Amino acid sequence: MVLESLGSKLSSAISRMIGRPTLDEISLNEFIRDVQRSLLEADVNVKLVLELSRRIKSRVLSEKAPPGVSRKEIAIKILYEELVNMVGGKRPSLDIKQGKQNRILLVGTEGSGKTTTAAKLGIWFKKRYGKVAIISSDTIRPASHQQIVGLVGEAVPVFWIDGEKPEKIIAEGINKFKDYNIVIIDTAGRHKDEKGLMEELKEYIKIADPDYTLLVLDASIGQAAFSQAKAFSEVAPLGGVVVTKLDGSAKGGGALSAVSAAGVPIYFIGVGEKVDDIQPFDADRFISRLLGMGDIAELIERIEEVMKPPQIKGKFDMYDFLEYLEGMKKLGPIDHLISLMPGVRAQVGVDERKISQWIAIIKSMTEEERRNPSIISGTRIERIARGSGTTQRDVRSLLKTYSMAKSAMIGGDRMMRRLLKGYKL
Ligand code: GDP
Ligand code: MG
Repeated sequence: MVLESLGSKLSSAISRMIGRPTLDEISLNEFIRDVQRSLLEADVNVKLVLELSRRIKSRVLSEKAPPGVSRKEIAIKILYEELVNMVGGKRPSLDIKQGKQNRILLVGTEGSGKTTTAAKLGIWFKKRYGKVAIISSDTIRPASHQQIVGLVGEAVPVFWIDGEKPEKIIAEGINKFKDYNIVIIDTAGRHKDEKGLMEELKEYIKIADPDYTLLVLDASIGQAAFSQAKAFSEVAPLGGVVVTKLDGSAKGGGALSAVSAAGVPIYFIGVGEKVDDIQPFDADRFISRLLGMGDIAELIERIEEVMKPPQIKGKFDMYDFLEYLEGMKKLGPIDHLISLMPGVRAQVGVDERKISQWIAIIKSMTEEERRNPSIISGTRIERIARGSGTTQRDVRSLLKTYSMAKSAMIGGDRMMRRLLKGYKL
C-alpha cells in the first residue's frame, strides 16, 4: 500500500479514539495529537499540521451530528474531509481535447522519474484515447529512448533522433505525430537546482508549446516539494504535478500536501517501477484508501440505514429479530466497517459470522418458540444448539442479545446502535 506507515498511524489514531468511552475534550485532544504526530512523521509541514488540527477541533466541537450518528463518527468524517482538503480536494482532471494534438511536456530534476512517467502515461492514455506517441528528447542520458521502449514495447511509438539537439527532436516529433491525439514529451532535466530547472523549463515551453506541462517530483523530497511546485507554477501556468515513488517514500504525505499548498494540481501519482504503476490522483479516493476505509459519507449513510429499527407495533419476537438480522447481513455495513477499518474490529465486536450464527440459531427454533421466546430454557436450549450446530452458550448469548435488542426497540435506535456496537462476543 502507498504511504503504509502514515495510513496505519492514522487508522490507529481513529481506533484509539473509538475505543474511548466518549469523545470528550481529553479524548479529542488525544486524537488530534495522534493525528499531528502521524502527519509530522510523514514530513507534512508543521504549519499545515497546526492549521489542520485547529480546524478539526473547532469543527468537531461545533458541527451537529445527524440523528443516529455519533460524535466519534463525525470526528472521523471531519478528519477525512480535512485530509482530502490537505492534498488538494476536488480538482479537475486533465482535459484532453478530441480532434487535435494534445501535447504533454514532462519536466523535473534528474532522477525524479520523468522517463518512467512518460512511458507510464503513454500506456495509460493509450488505454483511454486513440493515438498516443512519445518523444524522447533527453540527449544527455545515453539510450534514454531505449528506457522508454523497454517499458512500452510496441504499444506506443517512441520518436528520437541520434545525435540531434532536443529542439530539433521535439519539433520533428511534433510534426511526425501530427495526427496523434496525445504526444508525451520526455525531457533531460539536467538541473538539480530549482532556478536552473525553471530556465530550462521556459526553453522547453517555447519549443514544444504544450497543452499541459507536468512537473515530475520524487515523493522522497517531502515538504521541499513546496518551493519547486511554487516556482513551477509561476513559469508554467497550465501545469500540474506527478508525484512519483509514493510506494517507497515515508515522506509522501509531505510532498502531496506541499504541492497542494503551493496551489498546483496533482494529476498523477507513481506507485512503482513498472509501467502500470501509475494512478490518476483523486484526493477522495486516495485518503479513503489511506485510512483503509470506503467512502465515509456512504459508510455513514449505510450505518444510519441499518440502524433504523424495524417497523414493530407493540411486540418484538424472534421473527422480528430474525428479519432485523437478515437485513443487517444483507446490507453488511458493519462488516464493511470492520473489514475496512483496521483496528476497529475489536471495538465494534459484531461481525457477519456472528450474525449468521444468530440467524442459524433462530431458524432452529419452533414457531412457538419464535413467537414466545420466554419459554426457551433447559432442554429447548440444548435442542436448539444441536439443531443449529452451535453450543448452549451461543444460544444463551443469542437470547441475551435478543432481550437487549427488545428493550432497545423501546428505547429507540440510538440504544440499538449502542447495543450492537458495544456488544462483546
Ligand atoms: P528521470 O531521470 O527523471 O527520467 O527518472 P527515471 O524515469 O529514469 O527514474 C529514475 C529511477 O526512479 C528509475 O530507477 C525508476 O525506475 C525509478 N522510478 C520512477 N518512478 C517510480 C515510482 O513511482 N516508484 C518507484 N519505486 N520507482 C520509480
Ligand atoms: Mg530520463
